[in-house]
Amino acid sequence: MSTTLTRLDSTLAAIEVALPIDPKPYTVGDRPTGLVVVDVLNGFCTVGYGPIAPQEPDEQISTMVSESDRLARCFVEKGLPVLTFLDTHEPGKPEPPYPTHCEKGSGEEKLVPELEWLENHPLATLVTKDCINGFIGSINGDTGHNILLDWISDWKLEALLVVGICTDICVMDFVITMLSARNHGLSPTLKDVVVYAKGCATHNLTAEMAVQQGLPKTAIHPQKIAHHVGLYTMTERGALIASTITF
Ligand SMILES: [Zn+2]
Repeated sequence: MSTTLTRLDSTLAAIEVALPIDPKPYTVGDRPTGLVVVDVLNGFCTVGYGPIAPQEPDEQISTMVSESDRLARCFVEKGLPVLTFLDTHEPGKPEPPYPTHCEKGSGEEKLVPELEWLENHPLATLVTKDCINGFIGSINGDTGHNILLDWISDWKLEALLVVGICTDICVMDFVITMLSARNHGLSPTLKDVVVYAKGCATHNLTAEMAVQQGLPKTAIHPQKIAHHVGLYTMTERGALIASTITF
């Protein structure tokens, strides 16, 4: 185990040099800014709560949860809006390649206890989605209407601050799609998409766990490396990576 950890740590150190992310302090100030909280749900964050949830306490995930809560409280205190994505699936309808998760009524699809206060807050907008990408999940399949774009336009947001889980999956797919949407002129007020590094987390799945669970090699997911690569991919596409957030 310790040999594996050492090898992963030295791999991470090499990747951090090869793929730099250069995080910088970010100040919200008077800029119209919206907080986007991606999937901070029991099924992804609460220990033992379903097949994708952490099986033991996880420092990266618990930091992401407490930072998401702290920022959400700062946003509403300033009168700024918060939009949360909630991964939610119809029972029995799978989302390959993942095992069953966040089915409606399971409790996995609910915000973690620390964020439950957002469920009824007037400045919070809750968006359920049945796919990884929150931008796609915001599109009404019948009308083509995108409630996320409406939210940005109603609030005339110039910046989005993004936190949540998983850095390299749901957070990343949303952020890079949002950057394309901005560049394509779908969100005329929007200038910056900011990702707060400590406000994001991802899951850990070791080679041993993949073998035990009968999963393919591609399911192996070293947490710190995957988190870094997610941040790198987002900044490479034009997202700003924040080391700290001040108001
Ligand atoms: Zn899902």
